[in-house]
Amino acid sequence: MAFTSIENVDFSGKRVLIRVDYNVPLNQNQEIVDDTRIRESLPTIQKILSQGGTVILMSHLGRPKGHEPNFSLMPIAIHLSKMLNKNVVFDRELFGPRTKDVTQKLKPGEIALLENLRYYKEEEAGDEDFASRLSELADVYVNDAFGSAHRAHCSTATIAKYFPNSKYCGLLLENEIFNLDKILNTEKRPFTAIIGGAKVSSKIDVIRNMINRVDNMLIGGGMAFTFVKALGGNVGDSLIEDDKLEIAREIASEMVRKGVNLYLPTDAIIADGFSNEAQTRWSEADSIPDGWMGLDIGQKTIKRFAEIINHSETILWNGPLGVFEFEKFKQGTKSMAISTASATIRGAFSLIGGGDSVAAINRYNLTDQISYVSTGGGAMLEYLEGKELPAVKALEE
Ligand code: AMP
Repeated sequence: MAFTSIENVDFSGKRVLIRVDYNVPLNQNQEIVDDTRIRESLPTIQKILSQGGTVILMSHLGRPKGHEPNFSLMPIAIHLSKMLNKNVVFDRELFGPRTKDVTQKLKPGEIALLENLRYYKEEEAGDEDFASRLSELADVYVNDAFGSAHRAHCSTATIAKYFPNSKYCGLLLENEIFNLDKILNTEKRPFTAIIGGAKVSSKIDVIRNMINRVDNMLIGGGMAFTFVKALGGNVGDSLIEDDKLEIAREIASEMVRKGVNLYLPTDAIIADGFSNEAQTRWSEADSIPDGWMGLDIGQKTIKRFAEIINHSETILWNGPLGVFEFEKFKQGTKSMAISTASATIRGAFSLIGGGDSVAAINRYNLTDQISYVSTGGGAMLEYLEGKELPAVKALEE
């Protein structure tokens, strides 16, 4: 069975429990650094409120150990209230008579946000009793939390069975799946994947699954050095996963067999320490001296990668090409963001996901120039790996 979208459902007079993903970055002053996930949840919320439904939102934030105040959703309730221009009732107590009381008193068109689900260990355990108690708060369940869709937790999966005839997929979750399917089944070629980030280990399954779909695979970031070393290069003190050298070799030869063009960095900006204050110089990527580490792709690589992106019709990007958090090593990531945006303006379909790549595209104000920016990191990777997402499965059963 396929999931049912909220698109054609009438929510008037219904009490609707929506699982959103408000796991947004906060700074030390508890201020929201990036509110993309909150913004992207608004269409679902607004549809239900405007139809005269009552909305009860639930989310997790970070990984608290018990009731740590720094992980409270209070700042998010305040922010959401401003965005909706409407009071958002915030309940510090997730359960108990008070929660039920507060939510029962809500009138059609009113909205409340519950406290961090992960204050309760039952949430991650997928506890049945916890799910059943949560389900008593509403008549309808909507999941719109794509960022948490790869988790089989109480609020994302277990709870769905308590709403056998009234569980729906929110507009954001539906849109994410639509766009990921679009990229996985694209016929617009050439199809280029840009994969960066720190570790090969976290991206191996995606790379493997994408081998059967892409024409070009551009690999950058820290993980590129495991490939460069596996193919015989000297990478000095660059980030390496020695236990992944064999897999990197296997992946490279599988690409050759399947006719996929693998592009690794040919040059790098190297540094004598992992810091923005480190001394830097240029090096061939396969002859980095000991005591030095590659922290960004070099100009030759940028030019070559940009040319491939410019000739691509479908582009998937996950993971930064260098340590873009440091001013000195941001150029590779910035250039890929610009190339991907200009290819999109020319007519290519582009999809970017993963916290760091999305932060980069936001930082350079290019978000509107990308066809689709995913709100999910882990969930997006798992979907691209070909795995079934537990939250989606729960809506389908
Ligand atoms: P990931 O979460 O695996 O996508 O990795 C993102 C992190 O990779 C960012 O914090 C980057 O600073 C880091 N990164 C990118 N390039 C390198 C590099 N050459 N060496 C070390 N870390 C890197």
